[in-house]
Amino acid sequence: MQSTSAAESQDTQYELVVGMEVHAQLLTNSKMFCSCATDYAGAPANTRVCPVCLGMPGMLPVINQAAVDSTIRTGLALNCEIAERAVFDRKNYTYPDLPKGYQISQYELPFCQHGGVDIDLPDGTTKHIRIRRAHLEEDTGKTIHSGLYSLVDLNRAGVPLLEIVTEADIHSADEAYAYLTKLRTILRYLGVNSGDMEKGALRCEPNISVRTLAQKARGEYGVKVEVKNLNSFRAVRSAIAYEQARQIELLENGGVVEQVNMGWDEQRQCTVLQRSKESAHDYRYFPEPDLPPMQITQAQVAALRQTLPELPDAKRARYMQGWNIRAVDADILTSESLVADFFETAVQAYGASAADVKAGKPQRLANWLTSEFFRLLYADGEGQDLRQIATVKVQPAQFAALLTLVDDKVINMTTGKKVLETMYASGDDPHAVVDREGLALVSDTSVIDDAIAQVLAANPSELTRYRDGETKLFGFFMGQVMRATKGQGDPDAVRQQLQTLLNNEA
Ligand SMILES: [Zn+2]
Repeated sequence: MQSTSAAESQDTQYELVVGMEVHAQLLTNSKMFCSCATDYAGAPANTRVCPVCLGMPGMLPVINQAAVDSTIRTGLALNCEIAERAVFDRKNYTYPDLPKGYQISQYELPFCQHGGVDIDLPDGTTKHIRIRRAHLEEDTGKTIHSGLYSLVDLNRAGVPLLEIVTEADIHSADEAYAYLTKLRTILRYLGVNSGDMEKGALRCEPNISVRTLAQKARGEYGVKVEVKNLNSFRAVRSAIAYEQARQIELLENGGVVEQVNMGWDEQRQCTVLQRSKESAHDYRYFPEPDLPPMQITQAQVAALRQTLPELPDAKRARYMQGWNIRAVDADILTSESLVADFFETAVQAYGASAADVKAGKPQRLANWLTSEFFRLLYADGEGQDLRQIATVKVQPAQFAALLTLVDDKVINMTTGKKVLETMYASGDDPHAVVDREGLALVSDTSVIDDAIAQVLAANPSELTRYRDGETKLFGFFMGQVMRATKGQGDPDAVRQQLQTLLNNEA
């Protein structure tokens, strides 16, 4: 019973197959096809609307060039081919939050296609995820259900929305998580999207299916279920794990997976049926007659390429190769551009020369930043959002100065951590904190001598035993003297002086 034949295992072992669609609201000032403001968060309902985004008859859309530029920049960052000719299409469906009865989207000729991104997996390996396409469309309004009636708020209708679609290259919940994390980081680096999932600025829709290894060998796919509008990476991970288990169990029991749209019930931690899945032909796509096809020139693309910042992969490689930063730290430091900015400014102030790198200074700074500094950051804010680093009172140069004080033995490590807490709360300069609170290490020999004399006088029996050869008591004396200096004795100076006095007065 133990041995399973190869053919059997081909039929009983399943592979998870996931393709990911991400909807990212672009950070433009105005909407996609009209001049209404996009700052609808917290605004009274239907106050960011005009005849165009209300879908009044006869109104004509005008393309927001900033949204097009953001789309092309994102495509370039995701290594996509940029179309020379892009077309907007009508995607027809009726829904209360879609006043025109159709959404302007892109179908056959999107701006970006055939890209890819490398993701970093928990086991330290990387994997390439292909991007099928990235196209531009408009967001819908919001329906608010209230008792017996529903209300519609069209403030969001027409906000530029970038849809980024991967190939079915994702084979575990961890890979999905790594992909989304990487994508969000890139979008934030580019400044095209806030990445704020709780505000709905980034929404994920995984297509989830399973197939047996036998199906895989024949190049077949299972039936996929799409889980709509997930607004946290954790929910994506949970929904994928849930669907994987549900579909395998269904198939094992002779059932059939149906192609449907599901939602995620966060309370019950399960997927729930929304509606049966439309196919492309249900939407009756056709080219938007009110908008001309867009021509994108090589020169335009080249100019936009010039505006790309250094992206996380390149930054990470530079930290590791140029500054000898460990991979695990380089990952964290480059995960948010604001953290990377802080780190780089601090390293420049602290020391980034070849000699400094050889002495491990950038890595030392990384250690302090990712442990002590982040601890304060996390304790301070809501959630664990490292972007809060942009608003802390400690300036990068002050942080560097603190480390220099420790290096120069003006203060010890423990005191350094306390000084950082004070700096964090007050924004004060480390030198000012050390002076004001009298924290500098005592290396004044007369003070140390006094402390040693006190300790020796208070512990005569230990002194005799030491002098009779019980040299392991040195540690005891060291501890007592450090305590007598309230921890501020320079350990090297104390050790040296204690050795002299213990041995000399025999
Ligand atoms: Zn409008």
